[in-house]
Amino acid sequence: MPSSLPNSIHARDVEYLLHAVTNARRHEERGPIIIDRGEGIHVFDDEGRSYIEAMAGLWSVAVGFGEKRLADAAYRQLQKLPYYHSFSHKSNEPAVLLAEALVRISPERLTKVFFTNSGSEANDTAVKLVWYYNNARGLHAKKTFIARQGGYHGITIAAGSLTGLPTNHRDFDLPIIPVKHVTTPHFYRYAQPGESEEAFSTRLAEELEATILEAGPDTIAAFIGEPLMGAGGVIPPPAGYWEKVQAVCRRYDILIVADEVINGFGRLGTMFACEYYGIDPDILVLSKQITSSYQPLAALLISDAIYQAIADNSAKIGTLGHGFTAGAHPVATAVGLENLAIIEENGLVENARAVGEVMQRELRRRFADHPLVGEVRGIGLIAAIELVADKATKARFDPVGKLGLAIFDAGHEHGVIIRAIGDQIAFCPPLIITEAEMIEMLDRFERAFHQAT
Ligand code: PLP
Repeated sequence: MPSSLPNSIHARDVEYLLHAVTNARRHEERGPIIIDRGEGIHVFDDEGRSYIEAMAGLWSVAVGFGEKRLADAAYRQLQKLPYYHSFSHKSNEPAVLLAEALVRISPERLTKVFFTNSGSEANDTAVKLVWYYNNARGLHAKKTFIARQGGYHGITIAAGSLTGLPTNHRDFDLPIIPVKHVTTPHFYRYAQPGESEEAFSTRLAEELEATILEAGPDTIAAFIGEPLMGAGGVIPPPAGYWEKVQAVCRRYDILIVADEVINGFGRLGTMFACEYYGIDPDILVLSKQITSSYQPLAALLISDAIYQAIADNSAKIGTLGHGFTAGAHPVATAVGLENLAIIEENGLVENARAVGEVMQRELRRRFADHPLVGEVRGIGLIAAIELVADKATKARFDPVGKLGLAIFDAGHEHGVIIRAIGDQIAFCPPLIITEAEMIEMLDRFERAFHQAT
């Protein structure tokens, strides 16, 4: 049905749906793009247009669209056991097998897995388990989290408080939980003139230490960060950053929570970004590519030390009073197991590294010298281009985001879906992308970029 007709799905979308992360009035004017089906790196709208999904949906469809093995895994599990939970000693086989597989592939200190439905719930769970752990140790004042400006950890009450983006706080009365946000580790934006990457990292580690000392180390529970920031603009940290941050945290008995909701499962060309940066987290948070987002699922992995304290406390007070109806869902975890098998059998992590290297090179070759491009950055199959009004002074556009939006819209015309984070254009294609497909993606983007600029 043509999208202009009153009873079309487009009109009914505007009538009935409140969209996530969308300007609602702008949506009333322009209406939706209804995505109807997907195949490999492509999605197709209901009017027959095809797009290269250069964002893998929302940083998430690792194995691409239309992967029959995942549909079959879901169908098999739906027929056998469509639902069960993990309350009161109950369990199911796919949840156990996926937990076992995650412990096998993740950093060594992590020994137990707790499943949730979304990354936000996983981060809320991280907050609650850290509080529970510190209460169990008798450290009742040790509750404050340290996060970073520009970090993204989700939108629920606790996760949204950890997030360091004004858009997610404004008029939602966040943050609510005790959290302190420290400087974004973005060398291009925040390094001082003449400062080296190492010196910038040292300065940020000193800022972290000063923040801890000012509040009192007995009040600071954990540091949470995405190894490579995603939704805040795709920001790889400067050299030495994680090593220095970890040293400060260990000095003051502060847990490290690595939020790999975007980074995890091969995005940087290693299975986890913790491996890439030498991070040894106490808690690891995973979602999105865990099922290629074919099913809602997230996982929280915790160290044995945290587990033992939690287990002792739950024995003492009778139960661990935390859990979700659809946590450890058998269909979601069955899809997760099959998804991991595809990633491993098809060498998708290695593909991300190989095609990613070429993508990083090509992006720099094509855009780094453009007068409106301040920085091209990224690692593996995740990248961003930062647009600036003045290359010499790095001045941002006023208003921020207008050009980004124009490029985003032009991308649709040229058959490529990218993401505009203000005036930062993000790329995060499915891990299955071939070199030829990646070049086609950049060709389409380049046409959109030149049309809009
Ligand atoms: N953490 C990170 C790093 C994310 O990028 C996201 C979502 O983009 C989340 C947490 C929240 O996940 P969800 O949207 O599934 O709640």
